[in-house]
Amino acid sequence: MTGTGEPPLPQGFDFFEHRRRGPARVEGWLPTVHFNLGGPVTLADAQPAVRTGQCQCGAIRYQAAGEPDDPHLCSCEHCTRIGGGPAMLWVGFRGETLTWTGPGGEPAWYASWPTLLRAFCPRCGTQLASVAEDSPMVMVTAFSLTDQSGVAPVGHSYRADAAPWMTITLAPEPQPQQPR
Ligand SMILES: [Zn+2]
Ligand SMILES: [Zn+2]
Repeated sequence: MTGTGEPPLPQGFDFFEHRRRGPARVEGWLPTVHFNLGGPVTLADAQPAVRTGQCQCGAIRYQAAGEPDDPHLCSCEHCTRIGGGPAMLWVGFRGETLTWTGPGGEPAWYASWPTLLRAFCPRCGTQLASVAEDSPMVMVTAFSLTDQSGVAPVGHSYRADAAPWMTITLAPEPQPQQPR
C-alpha cells in the first residue's frame, strides 16, 4: 500500500471541522430554501415535509425536512450501552435540512467513534442524533420525533449481537416510486 497523504475532506458541511473550531455558525448548516423558478411550482417544492423532534425536557428541539430515510434499529455495543436498551431506532434526513430550534440551542456532542458524533441533551440526557464523518445524512432517534409515522425499521444493524430474546419483525423495504 502506498501512502496517499491526507484523506479528502467530505463534501459540504464539515461537522468535525465545525466542532474543532468551536461554536461559530457554519453557513452550510443553516436551512436552505430552494425555489423552483424555472418550472411549475408544486406543493412539494414549496413546502418540503418538515418533521420536528425534541428531548424529554424540551431544552433541545430540532426540525428536519424530507422523506425519512433508512429507518433501522441498531444493537451495536455503543447504541445498547448509550441507549440503555436492546437497540436504538435511527432514521435519516439530509444534514443540511436539520436545525436546532429549542431554547437550549445545539445539543452536546460525544464522539463514540473517531468518525461518529452523537448529539444529546446536556440537561436530560436524551439521545437525539448522530452524524458520521463521511455521510451527508444526519440520523435522528426515531422516538425523539413528534410524528413517528413512516419510521418502522426496515433493517437491524448488529442483529447478531442483539439480546437473544429480542425478536422483531422488520417492515418491508419501501417500493421505489414510479416516475411521474
Ligand atoms: Zn433535554
Ligand atoms: Zn449502533
